[in-house]
Amino acid sequence: MQCSKCLISDSHPFGVFFDANGICSGCNAFTNRRNALLPWNDSSSQSRLKHRFLENFQDLPNKAIVPFEPDGETWFVLEILTELNIQPVVVYFNTQYADLKYFELLSVCQENFDCDFLGFSIPQELIKWCIAEELACGLGHGRKLEIFGRYISCLFVAEKLDIHHVFSGPNQQSEIVGNHNYLVANQLKLPAILKFVTGGPLLPQVQQALNSNGSAFTTRFSAKFANYMLNKIHWHHLSDYIFWDSQNINDFFGKKFKVKPRDVNGYAECWQASSSALKLEYFDLIRIMMTGHSKIESYLSRDIRFGRIDKFGAQEALKRYLLKEWDLLGFSKFMGIDADDVLHGLDLMNKSKRLRYHPSNFKRRPSSYSISHHQVLFPRASKLQIKEV
Ligand SMILES: [Zn+2]
Repeated sequence: MQCSKCLISDSHPFGVFFDANGICSGCNAFTNRRNALLPWNDSSSQSRLKHRFLENFQDLPNKAIVPFEPDGETWFVLEILTELNIQPVVVYFNTQYADLKYFELLSVCQENFDCDFLGFSIPQELIKWCIAEELACGLGHGRKLEIFGRYISCLFVAEKLDIHHVFSGPNQQSEIVGNHNYLVANQLKLPAILKFVTGGPLLPQVQQALNSNGSAFTTRFSAKFANYMLNKIHWHHLSDYIFWDSQNINDFFGKKFKVKPRDVNGYAECWQASSSALKLEYFDLIRIMMTGHSKIESYLSRDIRFGRIDKFGAQEALKRYLLKEWDLLGFSKFMGIDADDVLHGLDLMNKSKRLRYHPSNFKRRPSSYSISHHQVLFPRASKLQIKEV
């Protein structure tokens, strides 16, 4: 069953509910937020935020951690906090990738806001091995390591610097399906963080490899540490206080700081392309193959709710996206993984499970080159059979 308003259907992996009129929980949550919260650009939205915050806490904190979101958005969080005289400590993760847009957005925050910045990364070979393990044994959720890393780096800084508040922007994917309620404070605890944010715990061998890497940071990669810290501190989403409009917020600051959004292959310009449009490409392909649902479906559903596109237009855009040529070559170069191994990983998934989607087009590389870690993990068998649906 598909929502009568947007593109979200009942098979969405995050869980979605429908009312008697066939409207999904995401659309209903959106309407509730719009009615209850002040818009992001309303001049009194910040004093309302302060008022609501003080209802729960005696004072505004002096310092707070802000997770750097390469989707943009962080600039608005920084502006709000500095206006409230809260000193932000921006924490970023993933500098092991040479992603120019990521560093461009980070530089904009560094140049325009007076705050401290702390960055974390994992040795590239280790993270490649971990992602390969997650893809090979973890039902295709290679991204959970990365998302987990973003949370762990903030919690590690909270522990080391004894900071008790974290402020991030929206809880994007959970808000899309409506399982994040703006009235419930501090929702990011177990099991919610594993269920709705990372999509499950890390594989035991991945956690062990990270923990034995030898740095204080990687020893914190565990659900136990995350749970301990999440119960000790407060993780706020500013979208629970202010009616959040990612598109307009990012357009506003992008224009102000002269930054353009990423261009997502087969879709459009898009601020929400995570830490790389190329990684989105691959992880979204896996997501569609496993669940039948694309992240683009979520972005389009949000656009329908904001009245930026009608349902028919959104369905057509999604159809075009699913027929695109998947740029696995770009992904393999970005990650430093042999393109054949990327295809081989998809081949394994194809055999292990009845897939919901079969991609029809791939950009292939012209000639052979290096051997990667994948060959150690799983010897190659047959090539992926590419089928038309
Ligand atoms: Zn809906």
